[in-house]
Amino acid sequence: MSLINVLLIDDDEEDFLLTEGIFLQLKNRHYNLEWANSFEDGKRILLENKHDVCLVDYRIGNLFGPDLIREVVRNNCDTPLILLTGLKNEKIDREAQNAGAADYLSKSELTAENLDRSIRYSISHAKNLSHIKHLNAELENRVAMRTEALAKANKELAISKQELTLALAKEIELNELKTRFVTTASHEFRTPLATILSSTSIIARYHSEEDNEKKDKHIKRIKSAILNLNEILNEFLSVEKLEKGLVKDFPEEIDIYEFVESVIDEMKAIASKTQQIHFEFKGNCSSVYLDSRMLKNVIINLLSNAIKYSPKDKDIEIEVDSNEKELRIKVHDKGIGIPTKDQGLIFKRFFRAQNSVDIQGTGLGLSITKKYIDLMGGSINFISEPGIGTTFSVKFPVRSKF
Ligand code: ADP
Repeated sequence: MSLINVLLIDDDEEDFLLTEGIFLQLKNRHYNLEWANSFEDGKRILLENKHDVCLVDYRIGNLFGPDLIREVVRNNCDTPLILLTGLKNEKIDREAQNAGAADYLSKSELTAENLDRSIRYSISHAKNLSHIKHLNAELENRVAMRTEALAKANKELAISKQELTLALAKEIELNELKTRFVTTASHEFRTPLATILSSTSIIARYHSEEDNEKKDKHIKRIKSAILNLNEILNEFLSVEKLEKGLVKDFPEEIDIYEFVESVIDEMKAIASKTQQIHFEFKGNCSSVYLDSRMLKNVIINLLSNAIKYSPKDKDIEIEVDSNEKELRIKVHDKGIGIPTKDQGLIFKRFFRAQNSVDIQGTGLGLSITKKYIDLMGGSINFISEPGIGTTFSVKFPVRSKF
């Protein structure tokens, strides 16, 4: 039979002796009674949680048992507390219960059986309570763990949803790109293919020596149409490579003066006979360090647009300003210009301004040019006035070879 440690908090020694006497009557259970004769001592000892049960007198000096009970319960005291009162009435019963007592006993009715029964019930009630508290804490812990796992899963879900949305957007964009390729290609291929077809049937009709000059003219037209087809195909391929992030710049030393001159020579072939390309070099340093393939593409694109979107008798100007800090290239034409409302869109893939739909083009050149310029660390902008002309300006920071 285990020993039950009881604490009595009561300022009256007589009460202690009385209670001790009652415990002595109980033969079938071992009780060990300790006594605290003040409110403060009682509170301190109780909070050490060493006792199995505590009997608290209603009056302790000029303080009250229910106040002590309230205080220790607030301080997480787990010991079951039984309030001892002089009187037995409903008000005190409710007060004891509200304060957190396990039971209350009136001293007038205090018998060994009553006390023993109340202690047994209080201890078992406290045990149940502690078990519930334990279960509750465990439950709270589990809920916290589940909440954390749920939050993590939610976060992962949000990330994969975001990735999925991005992948989907990319997929939709690629599909759109493919559709645009097909429509643009079928539209843009028609003119050079028609030229090739008509020129070959005309050539087939020339048999005599005198027709040689006419034949040559048509052969030239066929060549130029094939070059045109090749250019369109190259543009499509460049967009695909740029989209896939497969393009990287490989800078090398370039003599910019010679470089621009040779590009102009190539471009003269596509300019009309009545159209001149004027070149002005303003710099004090002709050596630049850039990717020559990309730079050539940029200059060709700007010059060919200037030629394409200008009347056949309007000259084109290209100005190169190169110093130790930067390289600037300006291409100026006196052509149809870009409508103000379209100016913000011309670097977008496939975009063609309203006034240029009757002129051959894919709407890809400037978007590729801009991407190349970005890759080389440069920038591009333009000013344009419809019916007056357009000036494109490109700027590159000069990078050292080392
Ligand atoms: P493309 O010339 O094949 O249509 P680009 O991407 O090179 O494609 O140009 C996009 C659009 O910008 C052109 O369709 C045209 O409307 C406009 N544009 C570009 N350069 C000029 C220019 N020099 N003068 C007038 N419009 C231009």
